[in-house]
Amino acid sequence: MRRVAALAASLALLLAACSQPPERHTATIFAMDTVMELTVYGDESVLEDAQDMIYELESRLSVTGPESEIYALNSGASVDLSDDTAALLDSALQICAMTDGALDITVYPLVMAWGFTTGDYRVPEEDEISGLLENVGYDAVSVTDGAVTAPPGVTLDLGAVAKGWAGDKLAALLAERGVESGLFSLGGNIQAVGNNPDGSPWRVGIRDPFGDSYFAVVQASDAAIVTSGGYERYFQQDGVTYCHIIDPSTGRPAVSGLASVTVIGGQGVLCDGLSTAIYVMGLDRAVDLWRENTGFDIVFVTDSREVYITEGIEDSFSLADGYEDMELKVIRRA
Ligand code: ADP
Ligand code: MG
Repeated sequence: MRRVAALAASLALLLAACSQPPERHTATIFAMDTVMELTVYGDESVLEDAQDMIYELESRLSVTGPESEIYALNSGASVDLSDDTAALLDSALQICAMTDGALDITVYPLVMAWGFTTGDYRVPEEDEISGLLENVGYDAVSVTDGAVTAPPGVTLDLGAVAKGWAGDKLAALLAERGVESGLFSLGGNIQAVGNNPDGSPWRVGIRDPFGDSYFAVVQASDAAIVTSGGYERYFQQDGVTYCHIIDPSTGRPAVSGLASVTVIGGQGVLCDGLSTAIYVMGLDRAVDLWRENTGFDIVFVTDSREVYITEGIEDSFSLADGYEDMELKVIRRA
């Protein structure tokens, strides 16, 4: 009898241990030119390794850091690329092709000319823009067996996809280490790993491009939620607003009628590349792209405050309190 009681007691203890939620560990760091909030449930050492992973990626991919592989490539050195950088370059080039060059990882000279790298903003002359555009064109770049071929004068910049890549690598790190719940906010990029520890999906807010709060919430599990918007970095001159996303076909800041674009899907690097590209493409071209592909959904906010969502997120998307009056349209496949 006593043994049964002891067994019952230890079973109760075991059940209590099982129902204990894993401990929450958080860190705020500054990396890749943005503030990042990292949350991991369970093993705290994974949080430390996540930070190391981000810093390592940053030092390898930075377009300005003299010790980076990308910097070395851009200086004309012959570089033995790490497997990971080669894989990212390869993925990025595929997204450039998929978006018909709306994403172009060689557009950096224009980003610089408009002052977005330094904050010394200016509107370049037409001649300067057309001169710089001669060295823009992702299709002249290729990666074979880890070696990059790019014509002299072409500059690579992975800024539009690096945070998405980081999200994918963080998700893989958690999976490898048996951590089932984590949330990474990487400056406009959210990587949601697993679910909330209580089993419910993560609830991720999408920022109102015209204000400071969030206008909508998406429920997500094992997904990247990536937003690009003109409000993130811009300057104004003579009544015109110039944003930090460049249309590679004109060499000028993108003007496509969109205030922000959020791409939601299983692959962070794809969502990141597409959010930038779709901001350039505008609604109609982006809808065609979505209809021709799978693996992602889109939330568009237009300059006139209309909201469009693709049908895959119809059930997981809701307008936030105070935003119920926004006009919401669902885009369907057929
Ligand atoms: P952020 O990184 O600012 O959150 P994005 O992922 O949209 O936003 O990337 C924008 C950055 O990518 C810019 O700061 C610039 O360095 C670079 N960029 C701008 N336009 C393009 C483009 N059309 N294709 C590729 N990279 C771009
Ligand atoms: Mg991007």
